[in-house]
Amino acid sequence: MRHRSSKPPYIVRPSTAVLTRGFDPALSVGSARPAVFRSSTYVFSSPENAERAFSIALGKSHAAEGERVDLIYSRLSHPNADILEDQIVPLEPEASGAAVFNSGMAAISTLFLTLCHPGTSFVFTTPLYGGTHHLIHHLLEPLGMNGIPVPAGDTAAMADAIRQAPNLRLIFMETPANPTLRMSDIEAAAQSAAPLADRPLIAVDNTLMGPVFQHPLPLGADLVVYSGTKYLSGFSDMLAGVILGKDPDLIQQLRGTRAILGNILQPDECWMLDSRLPTVTFRMNRQSKNAQHIVEGLAGHPKIQTIHYPLLFDEPEQKRIRDRQCRFAGAMFSFAVAGGKEAAFNFLRKLTIARNAVSLGGVETLACHPATTTHSEMSEEELLKTGIGENLVRISVGVEDWRDLLHDFRQAFE
Ligand SMILES: *Cc1c(COP(=O)(O)O)cnc(C)c1O
Repeated sequence: MRHRSSKPPYIVRPSTAVLTRGFDPALSVGSARPAVFRSSTYVFSSPENAERAFSIALGKSHAAEGERVDLIYSRLSHPNADILEDQIVPLEPEASGAAVFNSGMAAISTLFLTLCHPGTSFVFTTPLYGGTHHLIHHLLEPLGMNGIPVPAGDTAAMADAIRQAPNLRLIFMETPANPTLRMSDIEAAAQSAAPLADRPLIAVDNTLMGPVFQHPLPLGADLVVYSGTKYLSGFSDMLAGVILGKDPDLIQQLRGTRAILGNILQPDECWMLDSRLPTVTFRMNRQSKNAQHIVEGLAGHPKIQTIHYPLLFDEPEQKRIRDRQCRFAGAMFSFAVAGGKEAAFNFLRKLTIARNAVSLGGVETLACHPATTTHSEMSEEELLKTGIGENLVRISVGVEDWRDLLHDFRQAFE
């Protein structure tokens, strides 16, 4: 039997719902936390119910409210994916459903391959996560899809691109952009798209700010994408991806592509991510407060030329988007070190608490050099245009005591 169904008798708030929705202990022999179901295939309750399950899985019919549909085969879905997908929904206001994937890139690839086809266009903000950049230029464009870049934060250029793109299917926004934290206006993009006859969908990569500080769906986005590898799971010990959306049919369509690509999140990983959800708000709040203290302590340091952090924005348009869109500044910041690449490398070499690694969002503080690692696929010109200099260092702040981290950063400059 599928786990989807159990609902509390009245509407509860997200931090309660994440612990009570979607999981029925009776289906896990009374276990208070979900069991892990590693089976690849599921025994049908009758041949008729097998026929019914296939009909629903293939989109030929819809499950009725409260109907208990048999599981089929774990590439399509399995109990731990069902439980996780139900439990994560309340964390994203206005979401009606979720689909889980075995990495953030699996989620993003599935999104593009489901919504865009040869001859269609999509608009995307730059800079983008390195993997997404690679997907667009080395896979989607050679397949005949037309990608149109728009610089992060350029609201007017976004509106023009949306108006002019032929056969536009998708607007993909990563905000704030990594590693410069420039923000793009989700609501303005949704307003530009709204009057189009065949309205394109808006998907936001919310990995850096969500699900605690930024909620794209109430601002007009249709889909929210996560690398669950980052803040959602929070311990740098697993890969995962999630897409949440307003329209349950769209989520079902993404699950259909997922079943064919075979990139559903595996049962053990679903169970792990599920157990991390109730603490994501605590972790992110602590990490964001830490980052704020550290940035305040580093501002004005003679070895730092500029710091990129939302609370230090000075452009009025960036401040406006921040105040409209984000509840807090988040736990990522980056800065340009006086003395070029050599000085940036020396800083990384001298760190004793923060570790020199890519990735972000874990409870441990990480530092990296974007121009030669995460963003090294970008051309010199793109790097220059998007402000990713050879002296830029990116920090993902963890939950350590911020005073120790500040001390570590200060000594690394000496
Ligand atoms: C890490 C990341 C991804 C890719 O996620 P994986 O889980 O590594 O596949 C996508 N977008 C952003 C913003 C990320 O930070």
